[in-house]
Parts: sequence; structure tokens; C-alpha cells
Amino acid sequence: MPAQQDKVSPFTSKKCPYCGNYLAIDKRFCFSCNNKVGKLNKKTGMAKEPINWISYIICFLSWAFLGFYMWWAFYKRT
Ligand SMILES: [Zn+2]
Repeated sequence: MPAQQDKVSPFTSKKCPYCGNYLAIDKRFCFSCNNKVGKLNKKTGMAKEPINWISYIICFLSWAFLGFYMWWAFYKRT
């Protein structure tokens, strides 16, 4: 039984977190779904999702807007 898992990098590929395709370790973009992928997560073998600040900001703003709208709607009713 070969003990290949004891080598430094047991992974020769990483998995796209968006579409599940296997990519080369050094790839930055998924050739299948064209999403940007991060570095390999050595625990799961998946590529990490790169931090997308724009979607964070949009998410935050939409929640803030929703909160403001709820406040405004209840404020108007009373
Ligand atoms: Zn993909």
C-alpha cells in the first residue's frame, strides 16, 4: 500500500467551489464556469472562494435598505 498521502502536497488538483470541476493547483480561474477561484484548501481539496468585496457591500447595503424600509413601513403605519 503506497503512502502517497505523506507527501508535502497530497493534492494535484483543486475543486472549483462553484461548479465542482477539477482544476490545476495554480489556476486562478475556472475554465468551466469562468469564476475566479482562490488557493487550495488543504483540508477539503476545494479551491477557496476569493473574497468578493463588491458582493459583500451590495449584501450589506441591501440588508440596510431592507431594515430601513421595515422601519419606515412600521413608522408610517402608526
Ligand atoms: Zn467552476
